[in-house]
Amino acid sequence: MLRCECGQAFGASSSGSPSCTRCGSSRVRRVRSFDEPSELSEAVALANAPKEVQQEISKRSRDAGSPRVGGKPTPSQMLAMMKEATSEDGTLSLESLQQRLDAAGVDEPSASHLVGLAEVEGELLRSGPNTWVWL
Ligand SMILES: [Zn+2]
Repeated sequence: MLRCECGQAFGASSSGSPSCTRCGSSRVRRVRSFDEPSELSEAVALANAPKEVQQEISKRSRDAGSPRVGGKPTPSQMLAMMKEATSEDGTLSLESLQQRLDAAGVDEPSASHLVGLAEVEGELLRSGPNTWVWL
């Protein structure tokens, strides 16, 4: 993404000398690079939007991006977070689950409480001091 001295943000191909889409000035600087054209167009729209809209858009994309559950998650959300916190070798550690819960803004239940429940229900089996495996 490029930004002109006039404040206009726009996308441009990496080749050639870019000029502003609003005033035509070539005194532009590269602000950010994107791998995906869709990310670029979204960033350009965001950069050119009024402040209130920017806040709304960034709030919305934050909501969509990382599942911020907050409050009390549903059983299926809790299960999904436990699965996400499971490492590639199939073990779930208390630490990784707590990090996942923190990232989702979940205060209750705690990771140890969740793991304890899953243990009682026969879904998890303790495999170490702070690790569990799925059954
Ligand atoms: Zn310009």
